Amino acid sequence: MNTPKTKDLSQFNQDHLRDKLYSKTDRSSPDQCWNWTGAKMKNGYGIIGKKCLLAHRVSHHLHNGPIPNGMFVCHKCDNPSCVNPHHLFAGTAKDNMEDAVGKKRNAFGEKHGCAQLSDEKVLDIRKAWAGRLTQEKLAKEYGVTAPVIRAAIYGRTWKHLPSLHSLNAKSNQDWPVRGGENNSDA
Ligand SMILES: [Zn+2]
Repeated sequence: MNTPKTKDLSQFNQDHLRDKLYSKTDRSSPDQCWNWTGAKMKNGYGIIGKKCLLAHRVSHHLHNGPIPNGMFVCHKCDNPSCVNPHHLFAGTAKDNMEDAVGKKRNAFGEKHGCAQLSDEKVLDIRKAWAGRLTQEKLAKEYGVTAPVIRAAIYGRTWKHLPSLHSLNAKSNQDWPVRGGENNSDA
């Protein structure tokens, strides 16, 4: 399975997207939570189809308009399975983290059904990258695509783990920077 997609949803057929959303959504009371009845991640967020789209993001996109680049879709109702557009709002990463931390859950970790990597693997990948292994080699080694590696390295996914920056600061003590002092004997 793929990692949950947070990319532009307007690239998909909108009628198809709406059918997918409504076919697994309990919309019996318009003002109450619309609970997603299909597959869910461990933290309760609904997942649509093989493309692993997040149901609440799809609902926000279809009803409230496109999600601004880099923005998260948060719940006013504190119910991650809810896809009622009136209960959703687009927020910043900070809004989303406060939301997630306050509710003791995190959208991006190994506990959800779409993860291809694990906490341990991501830490290894970040260390290997800090030690100058290429993204292509890492992708091959871990059997995922280069974009998955890139997202893990730069912390767009697996945000709860130590960042590349903090790992790099440590590893620079063990890994001399290439092309550094060795050039001085010319
Ligand atoms: Zn709700």
